Amino acid sequence: MKAIGVFGGAFAPFHNGHLRLAIEARDALGLEQVRLVPTAQPAHRPDSRVSPARRLEWLRLAVRRERGLIPDDCELRRDGPSYTVDTLIELRERFPRSALVLLMGADAFRHLHTWRRWPELLDLGHIAVFARPGGALDPPRQARALLEKRRASDARALLDAKAGYWLVFEPPMLDISSTRIRSLLRQNRSVRGLIPDAILNAMTPADRSALTQDDDAITH
Ligand code: ATP
Repeated sequence: MKAIGVFGGAFAPFHNGHLRLAIEARDALGLEQVRLVPTAQPAHRPDSRVSPARRLEWLRLAVRRERGLIPDDCELRRDGPSYTVDTLIELRERFPRSALVLLMGADAFRHLHTWRRWPELLDLGHIAVFARPGGALDPPRQARALLEKRRASDARALLDAKAGYWLVFEPPMLDISSTRIRSLLRQNRSVRGLIPDAILNAMTPADRSALTQDDDAITH
């Protein structure tokens, strides 16, 4: 069965850590494509000052030449907060015959039980949790009863069913975060090598200014 990865984030900005993760997941999990989904109105954090449309444009620039990495604007087309369950419902309708694999960081997985209608996520797709090697990863206590029954032993199991299983995979991960990039920009320091050159070259003074305001609540 074909499998489609779903990788969401604020992507403010999209960086080489995101890019590598999408590529590593595609190759390690045998995904035919990875849909990159910028959040329009994140449910769990303040929205970025950079418009969702602009963050989507950056994605397009970043993955133009990479097989199977596809920016997806589904959360931009919906009103209200961006909930992952709604995104999976929409993708399930668009890709009725494929397995869906939600890519989720270990930090997010630890709070899975707080996500809107979280048990439905496993009815709609699989979850692949990416973690740094060696870090123990137990399902959150509040979700353990369901998750312990649904753990897959290897990536092949995700390709045999359209939904229902989760696993941990440990790709090499670059030590880059959007927060650090915004911090460097605030100090007028270079971010070359941290974000794709295509994004860097397209970044306007207005983009830089919006990005540097994203953490105002934290830094002031
Ligand atoms: P911020 O620093 O603003 O929180 P971020 O760099 O963590 O941003 P997000 O857009 O919040 O990026 O994250 C989207 C997804 O990308 C999350 O699932 C996150 O775990 C993952 N991610 C972030 N940085 C990396 C990285 N260096 N390597 C792999 N995955 C990453």
